[in-house]
Amino acid sequence: MTDLLLHHLHKFHLTRFDLKAVLFDMDGVLYDSMPAHDRSWQQTMDELGLKHLPHEFYLQEGRIGRSTIHTIFRRNLQRDASDGEVKRIYARKSELFRQYNSGALIPGAAQVLEYVHSVGLTPVLVTGSGQPSLTERLDTYFPGMFTSETMVTAFDVERGKPDPEPYLKGLRKGGDLKPHQAVAIENAPLGIESAVRAGLFTVAVNTGPLPDSVLEEAGAATVFASMCELLKNLPVIFRAAREIRR
Ligand code: CA
Repeated sequence: MTDLLLHHLHKFHLTRFDLKAVLFDMDGVLYDSMPAHDRSWQQTMDELGLKHLPHEFYLQEGRIGRSTIHTIFRRNLQRDASDGEVKRIYARKSELFRQYNSGALIPGAAQVLEYVHSVGLTPVLVTGSGQPSLTERLDTYFPGMFTSETMVTAFDVERGKPDPEPYLKGLRKGGDLKPHQAVAIENAPLGIESAVRAGLFTVAVNTGPLPDSVLEEAGAATVFASMCELLKNLPVIFRAAREIRR
């Protein structure tokens, strides 16, 4: 782990870490909601006769809905969707998502948050989601972990992931932090890209169907198979981050 952290310091011309916060993606990291997102996107596009690619919605994961809709329109119809189309399509997808989403949490997610909180770091949410059904329930499932002051959602950003804006805003909400003062936890390639472009040491948890190599190529420093595996390794990461100097 020390080698990975040192590599990050070299790459970003930093001398040390000074961790204050952990920036968490939501879907696929805290909520086991990606299967329902995937199914509702596929059905929405099938109903419109718009073709999508294998694992497309896992590869697009993290984008704001509008951007996913434009991508599919451009490929199928060689044009962007109109504002009205975006609104209708996203409403249909959200309706299906509410039907299909089980509300299940990713195993180990609550324990990871509790551990982060217990060692004095601030958990910050950085999601591309605009689903109030999920963000409003965070306090039910993870009591006391997030407030509106420590959450970045689709409503807070102009440019969603893979742009660095959501994670840069997450750093601001974490207390006007610099990139060496936080780490990011992500499960999707575009989310990883966003966090890395914001200058963050980014740890991936592979909770979906994509191979680890896709997450590594997106820039993840390391990939764990689950949040439970991450939980076991967090003390090592935090200790190494405290001790190393370049
Ligand atoms: Ca995600």
